[in-house]
Amino acid sequence: MALRLFNTLTRSKDLFEPVNPVTLYVCGVTPYDTTHLGHARTYLQFDILGRHVAHHGARVDYVQNITDVDESILKRARETGVSYRELGDRFIGIYLEDVAALGLLPARAYPRATGSIEQMQEIIRRLLGDGFAYEIEGDVFFRVNRRSDFGRLSRLPRDEMLQVEATQDGSTVDDPRKEDPLDFVLWKRSAPAEPSWASPWGPGRPGWHIECSALALQYLGPQIDIHGGGSDLVYPHHECEIAQSEAVTGRHPFARFWVHVEMVRMDGEKMSKSDGNMVFVRDLLQRYSADALRLCLLRTHYRTPLDFDEPFLARQEEIASMIARAASTKVRSAATPDAELADVIAAFDEALDDDLDTPRAIQILEELSASITSSAKDERLAYGARRALRSFSSRLGLQLAPPGSPSGR
Ligand SMILES: [Zn+2]
Repeated sequence: MALRLFNTLTRSKDLFEPVNPVTLYVCGVTPYDTTHLGHARTYLQFDILGRHVAHHGARVDYVQNITDVDESILKRARETGVSYRELGDRFIGIYLEDVAALGLLPARAYPRATGSIEQMQEIIRRLLGDGFAYEIEGDVFFRVNRRSDFGRLSRLPRDEMLQVEATQDGSTVDDPRKEDPLDFVLWKRSAPAEPSWASPWGPGRPGWHIECSALALQYLGPQIDIHGGGSDLVYPHHECEIAQSEAVTGRHPFARFWVHVEMVRMDGEKMSKSDGNMVFVRDLLQRYSADALRLCLLRTHYRTPLDFDEPFLARQEEIASMIARAASTKVRSAATPDAELADVIAAFDEALDDDLDTPRAIQILEELSASITSSAKDERLAYGARRALRSFSSRLGLQLAPPGSPSGR
């Protein structure tokens, strides 16, 4: 495998040395609403990465957490009069249905944060014991100035970090009890009527960042090969994960590769609930096939923001049908692929090896489909080409449902 993957840590395309299994941790959803296109894009990229690594013979040990207790889910629970548990159960069910409908390879585990409170408390105890954290009135904060390399992932200057912190967690950035405004919450004393767990620091609940350090350690070990998520998680979430994990395990680096997927935009703006410009996966799958949606999302490289455009998605439906037709072209004889086809296969491999260049890979797939359609009478060529086409399609996760079938709308 000669995969070069853009690593946010180094800001370069680094050679991904093959290991088996490849441990992959991706930050998952907060289950209080339906899966939107931004989620789909992020998790689809890690599906492509998993397929690519598997194609090269390595197993992927993939874990994706579920943040089932935090500010946003508690707020939604208050608004709807439903408990955070019920909300979690309902939207985790919907999420798993949506990603299955998109044909994403399942993770080995989808651990819920609330299933590992003890593990988080154990980490917090050790951080306190080693002076990486301090407790004030039932809240526990991470002491950022004990990590001289805090900020090495995001490379943000301190004043910019403070601004991000302010917009993300305004309730704590100005907390005068903190030694440093950048210190972040590990354990939070629960407000009245909020869910809480007993702890040595009084009843409370975990901060957001600590769950991923705890779950990665519990499910994958002290160091992982690839850590992924949306690009909006680089700071503070992933920066804080690095600080906690490396402080508690003494192992460096926590993750060899950090892979971040850019956002999906509507009319040039990030999709957000407050602007009411969300597009949900299940709504789109009522009208378009999973293959068309995959092609639509994968036609923009994952490190470029994607501007969602429904007419473009509609055109991908036609292309998905053309690929499915070419794949089902009937041919009889088996022959070794000719030299030209070998070049096509090599080009496809090179595209994915080059930081998962799916736009280029799809271009190659599309050209191959067109050439099969036009040369269907040349059986020798068509047989090898059709095999290659099926292989390319499966590496991009296309299901190739025949046009007109229920799943190939
Ligand atoms: Zn996370």
